[in-house]
Amino acid sequence: MSAPQPDKITGTPLVSRQDGQTTTVVPVGDVLFGGEKVIIIGGPCAVEGRDQITRLAAEVASKGGTMLRGGAWKPRTSPYSFQGLGVEGLELLAMARKSSGLPFVTEVLDPRDVETVAEVADMLQIGSRSVQNFPLLREAGASGKPVLLKRGMMTTIDEWLNAAEYVLASGGKDLVFCERGIRTFEPAMRNTLDLGSIAVLRERTHLPVIVDPSHAAGSRRYVETLARAAVAAGADGLLIETHDDPGHALSDAEQSLMPADFGSIVDSCRAIAQAIGRDL
Ligand code: PEP
Ligand code: MN
Repeated sequence: MSAPQPDKITGTPLVSRQDGQTTTVVPVGDVLFGGEKVIIIGGPCAVEGRDQITRLAAEVASKGGTMLRGGAWKPRTSPYSFQGLGVEGLELLAMARKSSGLPFVTEVLDPRDVETVAEVADMLQIGSRSVQNFPLLREAGASGKPVLLKRGMMTTIDEWLNAAEYVLASGGKDLVFCERGIRTFEPAMRNTLDLGSIAVLRERTHLPVIVDPSHAAGSRRYVETLARAAVAAGADGLLIETHDDPGHALSDAEQSLMPADFGSIVDSCRAIAQAIGRDL
């Protein structure tokens, strides 16, 4: 089968929204991105062990989460920091999926691991640092699995759209964008959350867009404000990091919310979703 190509006559990229085209609904099992319901992805930054991930998956499910997250391969600034449990982490995520009933998304860092991750995960995350790893984008597209494409911390919206085009041009069709903040001159938060990108992507692509307030904020006390603003701006979902022992979390401890706080954010975002004619 030959790979899909941009529209032969107009040269329109596969990610582009055509005039009058509605948002494409991206299914991940029973979870539908881009529909009426705002999707909540919750879970720890990293899978740290069996008890940790099964416990947190149960918390996410009971507090209104629709999908589980957890990193098995972690892109860390220092090579001496915890790098993730790898294949073992993937197996633990599969166990947590079984016990909680939640499908899961996990990051794939290396093009050589795409096949392994795609065999088990419900959705492949391409992280901020990998957004222009073109061989990885191609492998992810060719796997046929749904892809969650984070915005690079240094990528323009145009570059981000082109990264998605790599996935689609390689045969992928189910892709969800995830805005997670960009680097600016402002150091008060870990990143600057560009909520304007939701409006721009709505215009320029037919694919859904969700927001990750956790990596944007970098600090748990700012997550709720950013999450509420994202839902108000029309995001199709949120990705929120949770941990029940943040003091001992092996990565992103500062921004991880206790499950109870995760639950109250979900509740407060539900009220906003309903106010704009959606549900959560
Ligand atoms: C993550 O989701 O844990 C992560 C590393 O995110 P990002 O690629 O957005 O930094
Ligand atoms: Mn993280």
